[in-house]
Amino acid sequence: MTSTAIFWFRQDLRLVDNPALNAAFEQHDCIIPVYLHTPNDEGGWSAGEPSLWWLERSLKALKKALKNRHDLLLQIRKGDAFTELEKIIHESDADAVFWNRQYEPAIVKRDEKIKSKLKVIGLYAKSYNGNLLWDPWQIENKSGEPYKVFTAFHKNYLTQPQQDYRAIVSAKKPLTKGLKNNLNVSDLGLVSSHPWHKKLNGLWEPGEASAQDQLNRFITSYLVKYPEERDEPAKNATSILSIHLHFGEISVRQIFAVTQDLKLQHTNDVNLMAIEAFERQLIWREFAHHLMFHFPHTIEQVFNPKYSNFPWQDDPEIQKLWQQGETGIPLVDAGMKELWATGIMHNRARMIVASFLIKNLGQHWLTGARWFWDTLLDADLANNTMGWQWVAGSGADAAPYYRIFSPVRQGERFDPQGEYIRRWLPELSGLPDRYIYTPWMATADILADSGVKLAENYPRPIVDLADSRKAALDIYKAWKRNQTINIKKYVE
Ligand SMILES: Cc1cc2nc3c(=O)[nH]c(=O)nc-3n(C[C@H](O)[C@H](O)[C@H](O)COP(=O)(O)OP(=O)(O)OC[C@H]3O[C@@H](n4cnc5c(N)ncnc54)[C@H](O)[C@@H]3O)c2cc1C
Repeated sequence: MTSTAIFWFRQDLRLVDNPALNAAFEQHDCIIPVYLHTPNDEGGWSAGEPSLWWLERSLKALKKALKNRHDLLLQIRKGDAFTELEKIIHESDADAVFWNRQYEPAIVKRDEKIKSKLKVIGLYAKSYNGNLLWDPWQIENKSGEPYKVFTAFHKNYLTQPQQDYRAIVSAKKPLTKGLKNNLNVSDLGLVSSHPWHKKLNGLWEPGEASAQDQLNRFITSYLVKYPEERDEPAKNATSILSIHLHFGEISVRQIFAVTQDLKLQHTNDVNLMAIEAFERQLIWREFAHHLMFHFPHTIEQVFNPKYSNFPWQDDPEIQKLWQQGETGIPLVDAGMKELWATGIMHNRARMIVASFLIKNLGQHWLTGARWFWDTLLDADLANNTMGWQWVAGSGADAAPYYRIFSPVRQGERFDPQGEYIRRWLPELSGLPDRYIYTPWMATADILADSGVKLAENYPRPIVDLADSRKAALDIYKAWKRNQTINIKKYVE
C-alpha cells in the first residue's frame, strides 16, 4: 500500500535544506505539497502589502520549482488551517502531515492545536526546525533559564556544534495525487489591484534561486568589507538576505555552513573578522526568536515591566509626517523614503528613524513597529519587535532610553558626503556637504544657490533637535523619579 504525506509549506518556501520536506520524501511514497493562506490565524499580525507582494512571487517560483524538479503540483487553499488540512486529508487519504516550525505566539498556539487534532483523527503529525540554527528551547543559561543578554547568548552559540545541511534536493520523484478544489496563486488575492507595487518589480526577485544568488554575490563581493562598511547606509555592504530568510527561501544552516567553510579557507585576521561580524548578526536573529518564543507578550508589551507606564504619546498627525518622510530632518526623511521606494531600509537608518520617533517625537514604539510591519518587505515579528524595543530602551539587553541618536552626528559619521541623503532626497542634492544634514542652518543665499526652498520643496524641522532631546530626557527623568517613588510605596 502506498503511504501519502501532506507537506505543509509555511515560512520555508524552498526545496534545498528543508528538513521537514526531506523527512516526508524519505518516509512516504506519495507527497502532497500544500500552501495554506491563513491571515486570520496570525493574531493581529497578518502580513502587510509589501510582504504579500513578495509572498505571491515566491509562491509562483516555488510552484514552478516543485513541478520542474519533482513533478509535484503545489496545492493552494485559503481559510482556516485545520479545516483546509482536513479537507485535503479526505481528498487524498493522507496518513501524515509534515511541517517546519514557526515561533510567532499565535502560530505556536494554532500549531499545537492542529497537531493534537490531527493525532486525534489518527494522523502522524511531525514538525521540524527549518528556520533557526537551534530551537529556542534548546539554548539555555546555566540556571536553565532563557537568555536575556545577547553577549551571553552569543557566547553560548559559539560553543554549539556545527550542523550539517542538505545541499541536494532529493532526487526522488514521489507520486502525487490530483486533487479537486485547487486554487492558483493569483486566486489568493495577495496583491491589491492598486498599482503601488509596480516600483518593486524591477528591484527584487523573490524565490529560492534568487536567495542562493544573493548569498553567493554577498560572499564573493561584499563580505570582506562587511565590518567596515555595514554601518554606512549609502553602501551596498550588507547581505540583503533578511527578506529571503524571513520567507525561508534560504536556510540559516546553509549560510552558516558556507561561513564555517570560509573560516577554514581564510585564516587571515581580516577575513575572519568579517565572517564573524556577519555571523554575529545572524545570531541576533536567533536571539530575537529566542526572546519572542520565551516572552511572547513582548510583541505588543514592553519586555522590561518598568516601562509599562512610560508616558509615550499618541499623535497621529506627527506619526504621519514621520511615516511620509516629511519631518524636515534629512537622515530621518531619507530612511523613510528609502523604505517607501524599495520596501527595505538600511539597519543604521532603522535605528535612527526609530530613535527619532520614540524619543524626539515622544511616540510609542509600537506605532513605529506597526508602520514597519505594514511597509517592510522583510517585516519579521521577532526581529522587528526586538529592534523597536531595543531602541525604546524597554527591551531585553536594550540601548538605554537616554541614548538618543543624533540624526546629524550619525549622518556626519556614517555618510559624511551625504550620498544617502542625495539619493533619497534629490531636492537637497545641491546643498554643500556642510549643510546636507542641517539645511535649516544654511543662509538664504546658500539655500537659493542649492535650489532648496524650506517649507516649499523641503519641510522645516518639525521639532528642534536639541530641544526635543532635552524634553525626552526630562520626561525620562521625571518618569524615573516617579518610578522610584512607586516602587518605594509598594515596598512600604
Ligand atoms: C527598529 C528596527 C526594526 C527592524 N525590523 C526588522 C524586521 O522587521 N525584519 C528583519 O529581518 N530585520 C529587522 N531589523 C534588523 C535589521 O535592520 C535587518 O535585519 C537588516 O537591516 C537586514 O539587512 P541585511 O539582510 O542586509 O542584514 P545583514 O547585515 O547582512 O545581516 C544578516 C542577517 O542577520 C539578521 N540581522 C541583521 N541585523 C539584525 C538585527 N539587528 N536584529 C535581528 N536580526 C538581524 C538578518 O536576518 C539579516 O538578513 C530591524 C532593526 C531595527 C533597528
